[in-house]
Amino acid sequence: MASSESQAPDILTVDVEDWFHILDLESSPDRARWSKLDSRVLLNTERLIEIFDGHQAKATFFVVGWVAWKHPEVVRAIADAGHEVACHSFWHELVPHHSRESFRADIRAARSLLQDLSGQAVDGFRAPGWSIGPEQTWAFEELLEAGFRYDASLVPGKVSHGGYGHKIQIPHRIQCNAGELLEIPTPTARFGPWRVPYSGGGYLRFFTYNFIKRSAKRTRQLGGPVVIYVHPREIDPDQPRMKMPFKRRFKYYVGLKGTRGKLDRLLENNSFTSIKEWLDQAPDQNLESIDVRDQSGAEPRPNPERIPPMPPVGLGAEAHG
Ligand SMILES: [Zn+2]
Repeated sequence: MASSESQAPDILTVDVEDWFHILDLESSPDRARWSKLDSRVLLNTERLIEIFDGHQAKATFFVVGWVAWKHPEVVRAIADAGHEVACHSFWHELVPHHSRESFRADIRAARSLLQDLSGQAVDGFRAPGWSIGPEQTWAFEELLEAGFRYDASLVPGKVSHGGYGHKIQIPHRIQCNAGELLEIPTPTARFGPWRVPYSGGGYLRFFTYNFIKRSAKRTRQLGGPVVIYVHPREIDPDQPRMKMPFKRRFKYYVGLKGTRGKLDRLLENNSFTSIKEWLDQAPDQNLESIDVRDQSGAEPRPNPERIPPMPPVGLGAEAHG
C-alpha cells in the first residue's frame, strides 16, 4: 500500500444508515414507514467493505440500531470482514430531542443488539448529526453507564445539528460525573469565517482533493489522526432522492458520482485503521482532557412531541432491564 502522504494511520469510519435516514426534514418518512421503503443499506455497505478490503483498510462502522434490527446481515457482513462494529443510536434521533430516559433506552437497546449480532464488544458511539453540544454533556454520563468506552460525536466547530465548538482537534479525554470517556472528534478546517469538517459526508464530496489533503496535513501536525466518515448512500448515485430545500439537497446529493474516486484516492495514499485499533496503538498518557463535571448535572429539556418512542423490546439481554 502506498503511503506517500502520511506514516501514522488515520481513522476510517462509516455511519451505517439507509438513504431515507436524513435528519430533521419535513419530507422524511415516519418511523412507521421505514420498513416499507426499498432498502439499499446492505448493498452499499457491502460495496464499501469491498473498497476498503481492496486497500487493506480497517474501519469502524457506526450502525443505526434500527438498521441492525431489520437487516442483521449488514452487521454480520461488517464483523465477518474484520471491521469494528460501533453504535449510531437506535432511532437515529438528534440527542437534544431525547429525554434522559429515552436516550438511555435507545443507546442500551442498540448496543446490546449490535453486540449480539457481531459477537464483538461494542465500545464506541457516534450521535446522529454530531448532536452532542455543550448543553448535552449529560449524554456522556449515559454513554459511560451504558458500557461505552469512547464517543465520536464531537466537532470542534459548527455543523447544522450541533458542533461542540471546543478547540481540541485530536483524540482527548472527557471527565464527567460518571468517570472518564475517550473522545475521537471529527477534525475541522478553516473555511471562510467558519471551522467545518473536511473529511467526510457532504464536505468530502464538496471540497477538492487538494483542500482535503492540506487540511489533513494540518490535523496531523497537531498530532491527530484524520477521521474520514462516509455513509453507504454516498457511493450510490442511483439512490431515490428525497424532497428537500435547495440548500439541503445540495448538501446531501452534491458530488455523489465523484465520492468513489475521491475515497479511492484517499485510501490509496494513506493507511487507515479502525478507532479500536488506533486506540490500542495510541500512547494514551499524552491525551488532553476536558472537564465537564460542573455542567453534566444539567437535565435535558426536550420538546415532548419530539421524544422518540422506546425501542422495541426483546432486542438483546440488556434491553429487557
Ligand atoms: Zn447518521
